[in-house]
Amino acid sequence: MTIQRTFSILKPDATARNITGKINAKIEHAGLKIVAQKKLMLTLEQAQGFYAVHKERAFFNDLCSFMISGPVVVQVLEGENAVEKYRTLMGSTNPTNAEEGTIRKEFAESIEANTVHGSDSLENAAIEISYFFSSLEIVG
Ligand code: ADP
Ligand code: MG
Repeated sequence: MTIQRTFSILKPDATARNITGKINAKIEHAGLKIVAQKKLMLTLEQAQGFYAVHKERAFFNDLCSFMISGPVVVQVLEGENAVEKYRTLMGSTNPTNAEEGTIRKEFAESIEANTVHGSDSLENAAIEISYFFSSLEIVG
């Protein structure tokens, strides 16, 4: 039993289609607790900083433009094995390859507009959580 926290973003394609509640229902049904959540518009600088690891990739500029095209919901999720559990619930980056029952299989529009972000390691989860939340904003 390891209780972890992971970082999640409901991307602009999710807010545009008014499906954040449907996604949150899947998150909660999987046993993850939303311990912090806020809706905001990312600045280009914030999006570029968040995805800096991808800055050499061909899709980087398009990805950052997409991430500032509408509001996002940033979240902290808590639960047993939360990092891996949420990655499994999200499904593959490319929705064409996403497994049945995953968020991306059900909702993603494309490999870019793929509805959700989730941290890929416990170390990155801590970095990403602190990028958007102070400890006072996280209520377990
Ligand atoms: P994940 O979000 O599954 O961890 P990555 O970290 O590889 O995936 O990529 C970050 C985000 O960049 C993806 O969620 C997606 O929005 C976008 N992306 C990844 N690969 C591509 C691609 N080949 N073309 C366009 N956008 C992409
Ligand atoms: Mg990633």
